[in-house]
Amino acid sequence: MTSLAPTRIPIAQPMLDDEEKRAVLAVLDSGHLVQGPVVADLEQKFAEWCGVKHAVAVSSGTAALHLALFAHGIGPGDEVITSSLTFVASANAALFVGARPVFVDIDPDTFCLDPNLVEAAITPRTRVLLPVHLYGHPAPMPKLREIAERHGLLVIEDAAQAHGGAIDGQKVGGFGDVAAFSLYPSKNMTAGEGGLLTTNDDDLSLRLRLARDHGSVGHYRHESLGYNFRMSDLHAAIGRVQLRKLGHFNTIRQRNANFLTQRLREVEGIVPPTVSPGYTHVYHQYTVRIPDGRDVVQQHLSESGIEARVYYPSLVHEQPYYQSLGYAGIRLPQAERARAEILSLPIHPALTETDLVRIFEGVWQSVRRGSTTA
Ligand SMILES: *Cc1c(COP(=O)(O)O)cnc(C)c1O
Repeated sequence: MTSLAPTRIPIAQPMLDDEEKRAVLAVLDSGHLVQGPVVADLEQKFAEWCGVKHAVAVSSGTAALHLALFAHGIGPGDEVITSSLTFVASANAALFVGARPVFVDIDPDTFCLDPNLVEAAITPRTRVLLPVHLYGHPAPMPKLREIAERHGLLVIEDAAQAHGGAIDGQKVGGFGDVAAFSLYPSKNMTAGEGGLLTTNDDDLSLRLRLARDHGSVGHYRHESLGYNFRMSDLHAAIGRVQLRKLGHFNTIRQRNANFLTQRLREVEGIVPPTVSPGYTHVYHQYTVRIPDGRDVVQQHLSESGIEARVYYPSLVHEQPYYQSLGYAGIRLPQAERARAEILSLPIHPALTETDLVRIFEGVWQSVRRGSTTA
């Protein structure tokens, strides 16, 4: 097919080639489809990659967050502190186990939980801090961990968007008691669907393994209550190939981000993402602020064939379901302001330099157009 019209640039695109296809076919040929040796190998390699003792594979990032709370016995009467500027699954995990999410405002520079506001939200019911490494920028784990230690709280990292993100060279996944990663197709690596938990706690890793598979310790012997949150070997086969490429994917994301930031820094009305000193950002999303006329820019980009998105157009506590749970009155000024100003531009590793130039020029033109029509 030949066409002179520029192709559409999607906000996300999984990077799959013959290697993933061959890996899936090999599992089909083996006849062993369910959780088996390929899952076990992915777990071992992911744990090594993150620099932690254990990884436990599950069916999704949502299942990973759910199990992280379940395996710690978090339940009714407990409070879980998290962010409202995130995918709804971060907070739903608390609801699944009967606990109550408590939303704390964000740091306007990183879009992650503001550690200076966390302590004021702690009550005698607080059991867990659940920070989100949003867009691939790690949450301020050293400060959050110190607060958690002072108050005897668990720390669960929502690392669904941050495979490879790091603080002073230490990768996310090992800062909390446990961390939850997602392998959904838009994430920095994928398995089609899937999730991974990481922990340095031997006993917890066993409880997670039981909880993901009906509490089974052998043939039809169930020692505890559990779900079916298993990952299949078919999915793990894709994940294992993707893990080998993850470092390379992240490097390209970072290179794309540097390309855009160098140019967008000069454009009035656009605030490119910042990175805290010592932090490694893996740019699951490249999210700029446009304080004035964000929707005009998004519309112009869309007309130019560039898919830019708002992550997230509603805060979690603004969702209809949460409003019905009594979150209607809460105010989070920084998260509310971010939600009105943010726009994520394509940054994925499939972009060419021509695509990046088109994205930059699209933003530049639309900002000028926005300011002349205002
Ligand atoms: C994607 C995502 C999840 C959920 O992961 P799934 O694999 O889609 O269930 C949880 N939290 C955040 C921040 C995410 O981006």
